[in-house]
Amino acid sequence: MFPNQIVRRTQILRILLFAAVLAGLAACKPASNEQAPKDQAITYTADPNASKRMTLLLKDFAPKSMLHASVHEVPRAKFPVIDVHNHVNDAVGINGTELPPAEVIRRMDAANVQKIVILTGMWGDKLQTVIDKMVKPYPDRFMVFTQIDYSKIDDPNFATESVAQLDDAVRRGARGVKVLKDLGLGVKDKSGKLIPVDDPRLDPIWEECGKLGIPVAIHTSDPEAFFTPIDNHNERYEELNQNPTWSFYGPQFPSKDTLLAQRNHMFEKHPHTKFIALHVANWPENLDVVSSWLDKYPNMLVEFGARQAELGREPRRTLKFFRDYQDRILFGTDSEPETAMYANYFRWLETPDEYFPYWGYPGQGRWEIYGLELPDSILEKVYNKNATRLFAEFKGASGNAK
Ligand SMILES: [Zn+2]
Repeated sequence: MFPNQIVRRTQILRILLFAAVLAGLAACKPASNEQAPKDQAITYTADPNASKRMTLLLKDFAPKSMLHASVHEVPRAKFPVIDVHNHVNDAVGINGTELPPAEVIRRMDAANVQKIVILTGMWGDKLQTVIDKMVKPYPDRFMVFTQIDYSKIDDPNFATESVAQLDDAVRRGARGVKVLKDLGLGVKDKSGKLIPVDDPRLDPIWEECGKLGIPVAIHTSDPEAFFTPIDNHNERYEELNQNPTWSFYGPQFPSKDTLLAQRNHMFEKHPHTKFIALHVANWPENLDVVSSWLDKYPNMLVEFGARQAELGREPRRTLKFFRDYQDRILFGTDSEPETAMYANYFRWLETPDEYFPYWGYPGQGRWEIYGLELPDSILEKVYNKNATRLFAEFKGASGNAK
């Protein structure tokens, strides 16, 4: 072959190769995105006009994780579970709809949930309705807590009447007291002042709980983001827009610190009463401070219902928390009993799976969670042993003695 033939052949090959590359690029071009720059060379600096194209609304943004990570489904818990934070078929109607009790039992059996604690049982006839419907047919599967009627807070006999009402509730079958977040944030006396969580008028009730050996499950304050402006910096922006009454930002509300200090003062004043500080004492974003409270108040326990998102985003710190306080943490969900919901909680507690949606994602924020892979000894305590020990402190209903 002559040298000029070789040159010509090389040139033809180059032309063919160039054409193939162009054809390939054309094939890879986005089919429908008319806003993408056309036929431009790949650059390595950000487009200065990018913000003009980013007009997608936040409500329409639904990115899908491209992570290929292993998935371990856990439809049944490894040990029997006691869900200490639930509102299924309660007296208040928190879940909106009622479920047939047998259907709840079917779901519990499928998930290996031994018992559900219905926290919002109210008192008197309404409490009796829940007991008749749920506890009497299934005494080993459901437990009900009573609540406090604040409507007579200004009555001089409020304490005596409230203690009598509590004793009556326990005689009917209630096995604890639930305090909703309205104490501190909404309940007012006739002077129009908010009743603080540590109001001395309530002290006799908490003392009576200690005498009866029943716990007080208390929800005070809310996520930290609910006490900050609903703006572009708020990590729960979408949730607060959907539920504007959940925002406690502004001078009309006590601060989060004030509320938590009132609640902790209540723990301090009643050392013989056990308190379940619901939602990881309502500061799962700050496990250092929750740990310091658990160290300070031996009568305090925590529960993690509806705070899987907070704990799940910092798995290493959370695992240390579970190791440090393995005898003080109770399993709770604060969600309608569904098999998929329980499976999600079990996957989070039992497996090493990475970056998967918490239950209700993205309701609480746009982040995902990591499995804790708790050791069996801790898992069993959290699933049932801690709750069983706590409920075994019940001393029996008070008769006429008190
Ligand atoms: Zn709840």
